[in-house]
Amino acid sequence: MITLALSKGRIFTETLPFLAAAGIYPLEDPETSRKLIIGTNNPDLRIVVVRASDVPTYVQYGAADMGVAGKDSLYEHGGSGLYIPLDLNIAKCRMCVACPRDFDYRSKVRRGARLRIATKYMKYSRDYYARIGVHVDLIKLYGSMELAPIAGLSDAIVDLVSTGATLKANDLVEVETIDHVSSRLIVGQTAMKLKRQEILPLIEIFEKTVKK
Ligand code: ATP
Ligand code: MG
Repeated sequence: MITLALSKGRIFTETLPFLAAAGIYPLEDPETSRKLIIGTNNPDLRIVVVRASDVPTYVQYGAADMGVAGKDSLYEHGGSGLYIPLDLNIAKCRMCVACPRDFDYRSKVRRGARLRIATKYMKYSRDYYARIGVHVDLIKLYGSMELAPIAGLSDAIVDLVSTGATLKANDLVEVETIDHVSSRLIVGQTAMKLKRQEILPLIEIFEKTVKK
């Protein structure tokens, strides 16, 4: 039995073509079903539905053999116990710094002023500001980051952006791109040893299905 960890939403939807290429079809839709373990037409493959940021953890500890996780989740997790054999090039977005239109972010950075940054991505933010040598107070949030600068909680946010529509709707502008993000196929180190025969052919099919 192979267990694949996926999160609901875009990662699940955009992983479906890869599964279809391997002749695998989930028996339920996680958007409408409350089931957290979803069978497939292949009795030897099941899907566990977990929070996007929990996918690396399930795979690391062997509760899932493989998973699909965004580079953001992988970066925050650290990658221990994981192989990352393939960039699926799905769920593409970028890790950005955004702030209110009237906040002079660049001159603050230039002058080395201390910045208050609200984010869900503590490691990404800490590492980025350390790299550019800017002192920041990081404020950990779990969602609705866009509200933080508007409500006066922070000067700026570090968050994922794809179209920028949410930023725009909240009068925020993107002032820096920290990284380009896409989702990767991940395999547990233990699973790669013990279930190699089952996993390698799947990786091969997924690899052929990647759109550049
Ligand atoms: P939740 O929305 O339930 O708080 P989440 O934000 O972790 O959880 P999603 O918004 O579904 O879950 O994001 C899942 C993954 O999809 C992220 O880890 C990231 O890699 C990617 N992603 C996030 N936002 C976008 C976006 N705007 N466009 C494309 N991909 C994105
Ligand atoms: Mg989200």
